[in-house]
Amino acid sequence: MGSGIWVIGEIEGYGLHPVTQELLSKSRSLREELGEELSCLLVGHDVARFKEEPFRYGADRVILVEDSSLEPFSETQFGKIIAELAREKGPTIILSGATERAKAFMPIAQTILETGLTANCMDLAIDPQTKVLLQTRPAYGGNLMATIVCRERRPQMATVRAGVFKAEQLSEWKVGPVEEVELKDELRQNPLTQVAFEPKSDDEAIPDYKGADVVVVAGRGVAEKGLIEKLKVIAQALGGVLGATRPVTDMGLLPRHAQIGQTGQVVSPTLYLGFGVSGAAPHTIGIQGSKVIVAVNKDPEAPIFKLANYGIVGDAKEIIDLLVDRLRDRTGRGEQNV
Ligand SMILES: Cc1cc2nc3c(=O)[nH]c(=O)nc-3n(C[C@H](O)[C@H](O)[C@H](O)COP(=O)(O)OP(=O)(O)OC[C@H]3O[C@@H](n4cnc5c(N)ncnc54)[C@H](O)[C@@H]3O)c2cc1C
Repeated sequence: MGSGIWVIGEIEGYGLHPVTQELLSKSRSLREELGEELSCLLVGHDVARFKEEPFRYGADRVILVEDSSLEPFSETQFGKIIAELAREKGPTIILSGATERAKAFMPIAQTILETGLTANCMDLAIDPQTKVLLQTRPAYGGNLMATIVCRERRPQMATVRAGVFKAEQLSEWKVGPVEEVELKDELRQNPLTQVAFEPKSDDEAIPDYKGADVVVVAGRGVAEKGLIEKLKVIAQALGGVLGATRPVTDMGLLPRHAQIGQTGQVVSPTLYLGFGVSGAAPHTIGIQGSKVIVAVNKDPEAPIFKLANYGIVGDAKEIIDLLVDRLRDRTGRGEQNV
């Protein structure tokens, strides 16, 4: 038996980051296929209070490094700690969400450990014969999905996009062993000092794309300020969020965080409504979890129609106006609010 699968636990607000919950949930099946233990690493300042949460999502063990020197977050220090722990305990696999922090500390740990790291995976599995980790991610500009393996070096390391796997709490769970690790003095060296902390204002709050039930998407075919405003109104009236394809965010018509796809948000709404979206793979990779896809495009050959449950061939501008009118009639409110 090897030394297990490690999921790096990140904290957001008052609990485990959603992507950590998703990774732990997914890793339960990897653990069965591999026949090794599943551990969650909690490394940071004031993280001990979350040590029971990973067990809800299926962790067998928690490895806890609680140290005040870990505030503020420094990717160098964090990467070195992960590498040191991995050298000592020899995990078979290390997984982390592809968060901004992990994008910084995972390559540092990987370099120290002289192993491979596959970033932004969209799927993970264990090869039944060789027991190596199959790490699937978009390649060649998102036009194909490549499965990458790290045959020789250990640990096998991967980051995974948020929203790709489902977070599932166990109906029955109990707190397992928590291994507390003391940091060596040389690992307490944090190169950063926090001078001030200013949280983002509410104006900059990013909508919850991942948890949205309705996602309306503006494609290049509707890349005009007036149409985007109407789509905002439609999204709001349907209780959803407004996203965009990359050309639309590149044009600055919507903020960067509104981009849906391989290099943006991954969504899994009940209803996806795409206007003037062609259906290029880098975009559709991010909408595969949608239950119902409705696409409006003037080109009957647009690839999005291969994926759509309902396709409307026509001018999106006309459909948008019809929809705004219909929603206004239904809600009885003025166009401003719909
Ligand atoms: C490494 C890499 C990562 C990428 N990541 C992403 C990503 O995360 N998200 C993303 O979206 N893209 C991404 N892209 C870009 C992606 O390849 C496509 O270029 C992009 O998704 C296309 O956006 P679009 O469908 O809006 O535009 P287009 O492909 O130009 O399609 C516009 C569509 O609008 C239709 N249309 C035009 N006028 C009308 C009208 N009046 N009514 C109805 N339909 C109309 C046209 O028929 C056409 O099908 C990435 C590319 C690369 C190389």
